[in-house]
Amino acid sequence: MNIYDLYINEDDYPDLNADDAVRHLSEAIQINTTSYMDTSKIDYQAFDLFHEKIRQWYPHIMKHGEYMEIDHSVLIRIEGSDSSLKPALFMAHQDVVPIAEGTENDWIHAPFSGDIADGYIWGRGAFDIKEMLIAELESLDYLLSGGKRFRRTLYLAFGQDEEVIGSGAIAIAKYLKEQGVELEFVLDEGGRITDGEAYGAEIAIGSIGMYEKGYADLRLSAESYGGHSSNPFHGTSLQALAKAITEICDHPLESALPSSIRETLRILTPYIKKGPLKEALSDIDANEKQIIDYYLSQPELNSQVHTTIAPTMITKGSDAGNVMPQHMEAVINFRLAPQDSDAKLLEHCRKLIGPDIQADFVVANEASRESRFDTTGYHCLNNVLTHYFKDIVFVPSVNTTSTDARSYEGICDCCMRFEPFFEDQKIRALGVHGTNERISVRAYLQGIRVLIRMMDETCQSYVLI
Ligand SMILES: [Zn+2]
Repeated sequence: MNIYDLYINEDDYPDLNADDAVRHLSEAIQINTTSYMDTSKIDYQAFDLFHEKIRQWYPHIMKHGEYMEIDHSVLIRIEGSDSSLKPALFMAHQDVVPIAEGTENDWIHAPFSGDIADGYIWGRGAFDIKEMLIAELESLDYLLSGGKRFRRTLYLAFGQDEEVIGSGAIAIAKYLKEQGVELEFVLDEGGRITDGEAYGAEIAIGSIGMYEKGYADLRLSAESYGGHSSNPFHGTSLQALAKAITEICDHPLESALPSSIRETLRILTPYIKKGPLKEALSDIDANEKQIIDYYLSQPELNSQVHTTIAPTMITKGSDAGNVMPQHMEAVINFRLAPQDSDAKLLEHCRKLIGPDIQADFVVANEASRESRFDTTGYHCLNNVLTHYFKDIVFVPSVNTTSTDARSYEGICDCCMRFEPFFEDQKIRALGVHGTNERISVRAYLQGIRVLIRMMDETCQSYVLI
């Protein structure tokens, strides 16, 4: 699949200033807004500079909107003329992840160069997710500069630390809640494009994340006598841990089909021409088990229907081959499906491993609430994407990683995760925290068109005369 073959209507908005849009993204990448767990390592002056640039680059937004900073996060509000319409919120995060140590020289263009070369804009943040942040600003400024005004109030919200703890989004959501704001929809990063192969569908699929799986790290600790390994009569702590890990991995919690996946299957039914799903979809309820089994057998689909289990760490072992370890710890990472609470997971694991092994969460967040897809925001996003990309069907789906969007669930029942920047698989893979992160100018500009149209339509713009 050549992703660019899917692009259509690239000649919309011919008066869009593409050079400025590209230059702004390039400059935004040059401002190093890396976030770290250890906040003393964060360069907050870079964030201040970034805010100064935003105020400078987007005069129409500054003129017609209200610009606020909450700590180092940014909230912009453009008031609509009809207060009976719930506001829309477009999001992105300002921060980027660090460059992995030792990889600095592997970059074709330096990670904070923002170089524009070979049809790409290069650097950390180009694909996660400064392109969306700048594209939202470009889109809004473009509409306002053309004399458009909105009936629906529109917010832009840019958290400062999505890559670490997401406190910026939490603070913005709290502020909005205190103001009594209830949102019509939220649009944040996320989603993905795949060919339909895993489903047996003969069409590309755009998955819009309508909820996020949860995240939990479970720490297991085991004690044993230790001592010389020539007499391991009681077994070792490593042995006990290995057994416990195997028990847990061999006994996953039950799988289920959340409503977003049911809707996905309903939408895909006419496109599925081969494979085991084809027959099963004639009656999703009656064939639920068969469908779940199929999902579980597919590398691309399995994580959508159950809580995944990934043992990731084992620590405090013995330093010598002939010495038995005494106290050992392991961590298993779970991505919780919506049907499983953290309490249920903990109880399940404790029952499997017995009382001799300690099991406690280091961190545990349950899955987010499933967003509604019978909503203005979802329908509009779907229509706009279909206007700009052909031979692709959009479906409500799950985000298997976390975003800031979940922070808005308390004030919004339609939190969508979908970034409208379509690149081929190789570029996308680099974009997710990798080396040589970049975005093509073409994908970036097409994403801006999506956002302009999305803002224009959902916020019911009109021209001031
Ligand atoms: Zn991101």
